Amino acid sequence: MAQLTNTVPTAELQALDAAHHMHPFTHGAELGRKGARIITSAEGCWLTDSEGNRILDGMAGLWCVNIGYGRQELVDAAARQMAELPFYNTFFQTSHVPAIRLAEKLAELAPGDLNHVFFAGSGSEANDTNIRMVRTYWEMKGEPQKKAIISRWNAYHGSSVGSGSLGGMKGMHAQGGLPIPDVHHIDQPNWWAEGGEMSPEEFGLARARQLEEKILELGPENVAAFIAEPVQGAGGVIVAPETYWPEVSRIVKHYGILLIADEVICGFGRTGNWFGSQTLDLAPDIMTVAKGLSSGYQPIGGSIVSSEVASVIGGGEFNHGYTYSGHPVAAAVALENLRLLDEEGVVTRVREDTGPYLKERFESLGEHPMVGEAKIVGMMGSLALTPDKSARAAFKGEGGTVGYLCRERCFANNLVMRHVGDRMIISPPLVISREEIDALIARAWKSLDEAMAEAKAQGLFAPA
Ligand SMILES: *Cc1c(COP(=O)(O)O)cnc(C)c1O
Repeated sequence: MAQLTNTVPTAELQALDAAHHMHPFTHGAELGRKGARIITSAEGCWLTDSEGNRILDGMAGLWCVNIGYGRQELVDAAARQMAELPFYNTFFQTSHVPAIRLAEKLAELAPGDLNHVFFAGSGSEANDTNIRMVRTYWEMKGEPQKKAIISRWNAYHGSSVGSGSLGGMKGMHAQGGLPIPDVHHIDQPNWWAEGGEMSPEEFGLARARQLEEKILELGPENVAAFIAEPVQGAGGVIVAPETYWPEVSRIVKHYGILLIADEVICGFGRTGNWFGSQTLDLAPDIMTVAKGLSSGYQPIGGSIVSSEVASVIGGGEFNHGYTYSGHPVAAAVALENLRLLDEEGVVTRVREDTGPYLKERFESLGEHPMVGEAKIVGMMGSLALTPDKSARAAFKGEGGTVGYLCRERCFANNLVMRHVGDRMIISPPLVISREEIDALIARAWKSLDEAMAEAKAQGLFAPA
């Protein structure tokens, strides 16, 4: 098969990209000056770019390629389904086999009585569904005033108007008139950046109790739900102190507030169990899923819903849905992806073998002179960069500058590692081997060295 991308010089592709292609979360003019890095193919944990470089993908695409690249089984599943039934909808009392089978499989994998699935095309769409679903649930139960949804600053729940409102990214709220009414935010459990003089344990409790304070301020009779990621992903892989989740669980239970666990990143093995809720012992009423559900091979998301919520919603008509809810090709690919993750023991390996190995190696990066803390759960980890570990100090200059320098050094060393402010984050494919983990750690250490030298040369390596 001819490879379209290899017939055109990189510079030409970059010029066309700059001329016509608007990128998500990207400064357009800056990208136009630099030119995008153009990825042409991938295999396992390795990307190839248009210049022939082989790059170790420490981010699994965008936190999603859990099974790794290049799995022919998923290609075949898509091709078979396209030939048999490329599309049919699930509206108006119709259904099809891939959606039925995938819903059955998700009900089997999900904890507790989360036995019902409402499909969407993405995580953003699924969280939009959740906003309408929890409010409709309370309406149908005769409590229409229960509309408030509590979320957290620096959470990421998607980029649509609804899900972007749930999220707590202030830069997103500043554009386009977000948030929608009746969404409220409490502070995140980020001890490194915001813990001050408190111990992590004290801080975890204090941040959890903000939820209780917010519920009491709004009136428990007005609160529909609390939404949170078990481990914050796009906010910088923030792992809450151990005291946090038990207290949050107590509070939502005590006030009868629905808990929505946004499992878009944590789901499908990322934390060493099928769901982050299992790793952190949460009992959500709804889980948001997307990303790893299909390992990114097809766009698909959904809400996995408890029997209680599903039975109330099912008692009337829920005027909601997407043309591509349960899309047959996406569902067939997701089902095949779950089969591979399951039968090849990928989730178990993350929990018992490669996950612990990555943890040991990743935590050794904490010994680097520029790394203050190295936190990791399963296969999502972060490094807090700092010029002074004991003071947990931020760098001189604008926040995120050193993180950006480090990200650039990683890229130059053929490692994809992202930065969120001055945190460096990883979320590799779950199939990463021990040898590849060694390569990831070696490249990360080298990149940290180079970034530190540059930060020093630019006078940034000093407390703010
Ligand atoms: C990526 C993400 C989303 C949004 O998913 P999209 O498929 O990009 O719409 C929602 N929640 C979390 C936790 C995510 O990481």
